[in-house]
Amino acid sequence: MKKLQMVDLRSQYLKIKTEIDKGIQEVIDSCAFINGPAVQNFQKSLEQYLGVKHVIPCANGTDALQVSMMALSLKPGDEVITTSFTFIATAEVIALLKLTPVLVDVDPGTFNIDPEAIRRAITPKTRAIVPVHLFGQAAPMEEIMEIAEKHNLFVIEDNCQAIGSDYFFTDGTSKKAGTIGHIGCTSFFPSKNLGCYGDGGAIFTNDDELAKQMRVVVNHGMTVRYYHDYVGVNSRLDSIQAAVLNVKLALLDEYAAKRRAAADFYDKAFASHPKLNTPERYAKSTHVFHQYTLVTKNTDRKALIEFLTSKEIPAMIYYPVPLHMQKAYLDSRYKPGDFPVTEQLSETVFSLPMHTELDQEQLTYITSNVLDFLNR
Ligand SMILES: *Cc1c(COP(=O)(O)O)cnc(C)c1O
Repeated sequence: MKKLQMVDLRSQYLKIKTEIDKGIQEVIDSCAFINGPAVQNFQKSLEQYLGVKHVIPCANGTDALQVSMMALSLKPGDEVITTSFTFIATAEVIALLKLTPVLVDVDPGTFNIDPEAIRRAITPKTRAIVPVHLFGQAAPMEEIMEIAEKHNLFVIEDNCQAIGSDYFFTDGTSKKAGTIGHIGCTSFFPSKNLGCYGDGGAIFTNDDELAKQMRVVVNHGMTVRYYHDYVGVNSRLDSIQAAVLNVKLALLDEYAAKRRAAADFYDKAFASHPKLNTPERYAKSTHVFHQYTLVTKNTDRKALIEFLTSKEIPAMIYYPVPLHMQKAYLDSRYKPGDFPVTEQLSETVFSLPMHTELDQEQLTYITSNVLDFLNR
């Protein structure tokens, strides 16, 4: 059996090696390392794929979030509502810009931000909502956009984990996750669903003015060459990464189907097990399974993970510490117990290997070992 990994980038690369190597070699031959044709091609292709007017490539997903907030001219003290159950980057940029993160709890089934909790968190200082499409499934965007419209708030979608996912509205229409709010952000970190071979990210919007402003922000706040009207940042997607992404974007839907097939296999093996909840499928969004995350019940999670590790099955906890309990983010407004769903999830979830290269033999080995541990 092939060695198990959370993400098997090497096996995936070997299948597309010819095209990837060719794309990278072309960039090197042209020496157009920054803003070369590969970047422009990728920007156009991603705009087309997402059905969005503007894609602004940048250096990583964290920058995408930061640039969005800078372009919206949010001011210190402005409140930004986000989920307590996410990767730290979401709250990090809010804190870096001296905005006030306002955390809210999540839905226990989908792990995504709870619209009812958003409603309760709104104050006169609220300026924006940052829903995170966690583990590959969109947050309840229709309700979130209704709340935002009613209170005149910006919505920045953290789509770092759900690129390619479709969101279905009540009227039957659909949009790609990340293109519903005012701004969407994504990451091309190697292990993400659309990953490059280093760091990369992008911002999406249908708003011409916001797009213009974000292009200024990512380029040192420069409006005319060497005239800086704003304090900006330097955040670019380099041409070599764009060359990799040009190959992989064409395969993104095929990759999502492979992830879904692995998730279906896990679902079947663990269906209605008394000690596990399989990931809930939210009816309004397709799931692209950035992670396959289970909730354990009446089980020693630590012992389970140790057992799996002894069988050379990697398993990870996303995320072991809720944002309000992270040392750097301790805040007198919050205390343990404030976000019961998040706190319960951080103590009970675990994620199994999830990628495009899992085969039947590996999946059978993983599921039978998990069941061996739970049934003994
Ligand atoms: C990966 C990730 C980010 C940050 O992306 P980087 O490219 O690593 O900066 C932000 N938010 C979420 C939810 C992520 O999963």
